[in-house]
Amino acid sequence: TIVVVGSLNMDMVSTVDRMPAPGETVAGRGFAMVHGGKGANQAVAAARLGAVVRMVGCVGSDSFGGLLRQGLVAEGIDVAGVRECPGASGVAAITVDGSGGNSIVVYAGANALLLPGMIDAASIDSAAMVLVQLETPMATVVRLAEVCSAAGTPLMLDPAPAQALSVSLLRKTAWLTPNESEARTLLGVAEDLPMEEAAERLLALGVRNVMLKLGARGVYLAGADVASTLVPAPAVRAVDTTAAGDCFNAAFAVALTEGQAPVAAARFACAAAALSTTGAGAQPSMPTREAVLRMMRG
Ligand code: ADP
Repeated sequence: TIVVVGSLNMDMVSTVDRMPAPGETVAGRGFAMVHGGKGANQAVAAARLGAVVRMVGCVGSDSFGGLLRQGLVAEGIDVAGVRECPGASGVAAITVDGSGGNSIVVYAGANALLLPGMIDAASIDSAAMVLVQLETPMATVVRLAEVCSAAGTPLMLDPAPAQALSVSLLRKTAWLTPNESEARTLLGVAEDLPMEEAAERLLALGVRNVMLKLGARGVYLAGADVASTLVPAPAVRAVDTTAAGDCFNAAFAVALTEGQAPVAAARFACAAAALSTTGAGAQPSMPTREAVLRMMRG
């Protein structure tokens, strides 16, 4: 079982010709409600890629809460660890303009109510791997890392949205998966470092392994369980890279827990993430296992 601890959001995506100025109303061109949240995105991707998945998170008592939970159930995900909390669900109000630029308001809602006490040690003990991100309270992430460390269960930490992390948390992280801007935040540097140096400095903070996500260039792996390697991304016609990183993390976890070596798992994950950029929306664009295997056969 892969356990995903994290956020569930309803993304409300409007498309406009141009962004409204403060106080202005513009006519929208289109609208869609799409299930998102980094945690739920990773859970759905892992399930579509064939894993047994258990989600731990919080939804609100509003109408979105039921929809978000049902969305996971429809993917075959165990939602016994998804609590309903009083108040609003996590929401993201996203406006996309004619040139593909966007402006986004995220309200954490129920995601802010995922408390350390909701981490159930028994389900962590039996997990092959645990995935977490930073859209839920830091105290809960820290507690989760302690439980994983005590159980010997590998923790994959997606440091997104970017923030500085404590050394004690990093020391309990088996796989840290920043993109380039998150790596800059973690290292406190203003400019991108060469990938080898960025990885080396992140490892020096105490994480066991690093996967530096490099967008269309692929991913750079380094650490205790893998020789330093750049795995290139397959070339695709990307239309929407939303949640590509979430897809990558989930796919890597699926392949690794099936017993593949890290570099092979990263190749599978790059194929999955590349495919996810060819469709619109967060969870709708997550590929199936069959689609990924077809892409890898070429
Ligand atoms: P994030 O989505 O977290 O910002 P990236 O943009 O680096 O992180 O994307 C994560 C992964 O998704 C990359 O490491 C790569 O495997 C894949 N990916 C992202 N953009 C593209 C692209 N344009 N073409 C192919 N693969 C991509």
